Amino acid sequence: MASPPSSFPHLALIGAGITSLTLSIRLSALQIPHTIYEQSSSLTELGAGLSFGPNAVRALQHIDSRFVDVFNKTATFVGTPSSQGKRILEDEEEWREGDQVWIEFLDGTKQGGDVTPEFVIKAGNGKGHAAVHRGKWLDVLGGLVTAEIQFGKRLVDVVRPDGVKRWVKMVFGDGTEVEADAVVGCDGVKSRVREVLVEALHGEGEGRTNGKCGYSGKYAYRCLVPWDKAVEAVGEDRVGVSSLWMGPNRHLLTFPVNRQEERFLNLVAFVTDQSQTWPSQGPASLTMPATKMDALKDFERAGFSDTWGLHDVADRPLSSFFSDRIIVIGDAAHASTPHHGSGAGFCMEDVAILGALFEEAIAHKALTVNTLQEIFTVFDAHRRERDQWLVNSSRRAADLYQWRIPEFSGQERFEKMKADIEQRQKVCWDFDMESAIERAERDLKELLDTATR
Ligand SMILES: Cc1cc2nc3c(=O)[nH]c(=O)nc-3n(C[C@H](O)[C@H](O)[C@H](O)COP(=O)(O)OP(=O)(O)OC[C@H]3O[C@@H](n4cnc5c(N)ncnc54)[C@H](O)[C@@H]3O)c2cc1C
Repeated sequence: MASPPSSFPHLALIGAGITSLTLSIRLSALQIPHTIYEQSSSLTELGAGLSFGPNAVRALQHIDSRFVDVFNKTATFVGTPSSQGKRILEDEEEWREGDQVWIEFLDGTKQGGDVTPEFVIKAGNGKGHAAVHRGKWLDVLGGLVTAEIQFGKRLVDVVRPDGVKRWVKMVFGDGTEVEADAVVGCDGVKSRVREVLVEALHGEGEGRTNGKCGYSGKYAYRCLVPWDKAVEAVGEDRVGVSSLWMGPNRHLLTFPVNRQEERFLNLVAFVTDQSQTWPSQGPASLTMPATKMDALKDFERAGFSDTWGLHDVADRPLSSFFSDRIIVIGDAAHASTPHHGSGAGFCMEDVAILGALFEEAIAHKALTVNTLQEIFTVFDAHRRERDQWLVNSSRRAADLYQWRIPEFSGQERFEKMKADIEQRQKVCWDFDMESAIERAERDLKELLDTATR
């Protein structure tokens, strides 16, 4: 393979999560030099299942054609409705042979082990609810990454002192410093790059306040239940399909997920508690140890481990995803609560658009340090509104599941809820990736033409 033009910028990707690794695979295919810096000592993913909507799968397809096959082999697809779910769809004349279900919604306050859903939402693809085991997916991505990953590198600061060879200098917790032409913050919900960006956009002191994500007032218990135990508890018919039990200030989501050859029921139990704050610093800043008793107290039945404080940027949206040569993507840009099952999917959309913009610049022989501004400008214009929509809508979805919206009460509660949730999921799933890429490429071409005129 011929070496890339020496004029290509060298990028520093901060973090080695799903967003960063996927972007790295795309950048390597375009021969764009980059290095990944990760604070942990290895690739690590906490937690269990990650559902991917049709928009996420389409984005993956655009990023790298190998992903389709890899995804189909790695994901667990469940779409056959439970017998009660199918009956509901038939009664509503919504059932067509071969239809697949996304989630069946149940009233969690019903007594006597009744597992009849109140309503059912069909899947936006032909395959049902698709989920990957997080750790397994990260391993798959890690296996495709060819760029250098430097572990044990916790980014502390990004500075631009006089006399540096490249544009940015990164300072890490171990005291080392590295230069690059631009920094791409893929450092997730508690992003340090977002803080640095907010300082650059709004002035000193702003990053430590407005650059931070906030506690959403909700926390979650997550665990993988061995398949046999799950079947024993609620029956094969119910565990075989994604199910969401609703209730006042609580909801519980289950879906099957495979790890290696073993099948588990992924279970996430969400609680609203706005009376509490969540520690903003230290090891408990995302998760806190929890006992089975804590979960039992919250839910009165079932068993869980670890509590996750759900953080997002609903209250502190970014006014721009970039400033000069510092850009954020993925959760670093739009950390969201997980109630549309789409956070990672939107991260994949980000990567698809950013990758397409780099490719377009290369096609115009215009990828240099000087055109990063144009690329980042178009990325921001095409992603920020949609990404922030997810953050806000996801909060609303949780309030729907937890009966926190006064208009959604009485006789028609479930009917209204179904319509609202369905419409929101459509916004997530029906994203036209192809046209979005075309529009972004066209805008970049115009900007590049203007810049060189
Ligand atoms: C309970 C829960 C359930 C979810 N379920 C779903 C779902 O079903 N479907 C879905 O699409 N999304 C879901 N999400 C959202 C999804 O997990 C995220 O959108 C996705 O993981 C974000 O990926 P990322 O790579 O941008 O960030 P992350 O995965 O957070 O990766 C960031 C990386 O950066 C590293 N890092 C952080 N700070 C630094 C630093 N200063 N220096 C160097 N490295 C650093 C971290 O160690 C980490 O490796 C869920 C989220 C939660 C909390």
